[in-house]
Amino acid sequence: MLNIVLFGPPGAGKGTQSQKLIEKYGLIHLSTGDMLRKEISEGTELGMKAKSIMDQGILVPDEVVIGIINSRIDSESGANGFIFDGFPRTIPQAEALDDLLQTKGTEITTMLALEVDQQELVKRLLLRGEASGRSDDANEEVISQRIAEYEDKTAPLAKYYNDQGKYNGVKGMGTVDEIFSNLCKEIDGLTEVN
Ligand code: AMP
Repeated sequence: MLNIVLFGPPGAGKGTQSQKLIEKYGLIHLSTGDMLRKEISEGTELGMKAKSIMDQGILVPDEVVIGIINSRIDSESGANGFIFDGFPRTIPQAEALDDLLQTKGTEITTMLALEVDQQELVKRLLLRGEASGRSDDANEEVISQRIAEYEDKTAPLAKYYNDQGKYNGVKGMGTVDEIFSNLCKEIDGLTEVN
């Protein structure tokens, strides 16, 4: 299986690139942000609780996202592999994911980390807020809070995967197609070696 953690701060382009990668490599896209937004749009109890947290730009509790990822992986047996987008976001989530994949007889192949300047991130998020109406993208204060959460809780995951020899930095500036090509080069390099 090819199991990729697509990593990077909010606005790095993880969602856009995931869509292209799943087509090219036949993978399943698992985005906890999308799953939570679906719960919100369906008006579930979990969705209502998550909304107030997401609107503040902070992370929802680990056990909530681990639970939803767990049930999705279970329902997708027979997949070629997964792209994890926006998950894991904390060390406990990464540990839970390692355990979960181990019980399925597989593991994370690589973390591909999109590297983007901070100024560019805020610009992209504000543009996305205008285009998509995502409430957590529309407000510069909430964006700053999300970037702070990322620096505090999520950035340490780079070391976690580096310690496993799985961290690969990828240039995340340029056009969508240029960034996609940078990601594909990394993936093709890995699959040639294996
Ligand atoms: P995203 O679409 O990945 O930017 O996620 C939007 C929001 O959903 C985040 O700001 C968090 O509040 C929440 N969220 C998504 N994924 C996670 C996760 N793995 N852990 C905790 N909170 C998450």
